[in-house]
Amino acid sequence: MSGIPRDDSKSKMKLSDDRIRVAILGSTGSIGTQTLEIARLFPDRIQVVALTAGKNVDLLAQQAKEFNPECVVIGSHEAEARAIAKGRFNCPVFFGEDELSRAATWDRTDVVVTALVGSIGLLSTVAAIKTGCRIALANKETLVIAGDLIADLAKEHQAEIIPVDSEHSAIYQCLMGESLADVSRLILTASGGPFRERPIQSFSSISTKEALSHPNWAMGPKITIDSATMINKGLEVIEARWLFNLPADKIEVVIHPQSIIHSMVEFVDGSTKAQMGPPDMKVPIQFALSTPGRWPSHHPVVSWKESQNLTFTKPDLNRYPGLSLAFEALKEGGSMPAVLNASNEVAVDLFLQNKIGYLGITDLVRAVMQSGINSAEYSIEARLEVDRRARRCAEELAGITSH
Ligand code: NDP
Repeated sequence: MSGIPRDDSKSKMKLSDDRIRVAILGSTGSIGTQTLEIARLFPDRIQVVALTAGKNVDLLAQQAKEFNPECVVIGSHEAEARAIAKGRFNCPVFFGEDELSRAATWDRTDVVVTALVGSIGLLSTVAAIKTGCRIALANKETLVIAGDLIADLAKEHQAEIIPVDSEHSAIYQCLMGESLADVSRLILTASGGPFRERPIQSFSSISTKEALSHPNWAMGPKITIDSATMINKGLEVIEARWLFNLPADKIEVVIHPQSIIHSMVEFVDGSTKAQMGPPDMKVPIQFALSTPGRWPSHHPVVSWKESQNLTFTKPDLNRYPGLSLAFEALKEGGSMPAVLNASNEVAVDLFLQNKIGYLGITDLVRAVMQSGINSAEYSIEARLEVDRRARRCAEELAGITSH
């Protein structure tokens, strides 16, 4: 993770006449299933070697039947998951979250797609980095919790981290052939989510159904809620800080409701590069697998002959307090982003279960960030301990019995 896309000649990826061996962590989710759509399009380029699910054993079994992986992992330990899995796989099946690292380090894997949601993705990403393979990173929470540690680890093990998030993929592409020293700003675009124009006074009555209706992107439930509060954009700012090794004051967010410009890089000479395309995650997923090259596909493209009204506005922090919380966490540094992330995971979960209201999400995150949890210790274990403490604190503050 040097902050600049690698020189093509140094990439460890195989040539296109040789299939790349790909493990997909979280293959049953939104990013995971779209990664398999890419694998279906390119059977001569991609060999799926490992798949993992949390609870959706039925879908995992269908995927395994079609893609013939060499192993599968089911995150759930429950007897029910074991019973559903019995006799349905022609490869070794492992159970439990601890086994996710097994899929992440499967024999001779070239690329690990980290499509798990939340902090559960951290340890398997660390395990994959230690093998020195390419990480196609969707699981942004990993970089939020431990971006500084992950950056050092990737350098030590010469593991390429290619972002899957469309904004970071855009920035990565804009930086190709450039020097970081010439960058004046990274500009992350944000759609503004479903409540961009809703009166703020009515936010207290926002339902889970309304918050789950993103205007431009079809995604998993957690990131969809994060997009509504814009904590997602805040997590992305932290992700960008570590992926591209630039300080927070060089990273800005702009609302661009059309989601055609996926992000931009401004350079010291006043020039700005933007990467554009329709809002379709398959494009950045495929790029993370194909780079340094590109593979021809039939993904939809923007019709430039029709008028495209591209608009940009400054985000209103009263509407999106989650964004300022993320900037605060980044400024505070250390393990504060891990506190932000853990409390947000708990808060989103409680909101999805209708146990707290929409405004309660950022209120709870703010309260946990102000509770004094922090750790100066520089290790993955210490960050995980902060994650656990922040979760307990969030549950206690929300009145949920902690366990
Ligand atoms: P989903 O909720 O759709 O999928 C999450 C995946 O993680 C599923 O395969 C799920 O399995 C698995 N999982 C959840 N909990 C566990 C567990 N305890 N043990 C093992 N597996 C588990 O999420 P998304 O695909 O939307 O997002 C994945 C990541 O990508 C997130 O970090 C998100 O921020 C990021 N991202 C997503 C985008 C999108 O368009 N969706 C865009 C950019 C980034 P199961 O369903 O079987 O329980």
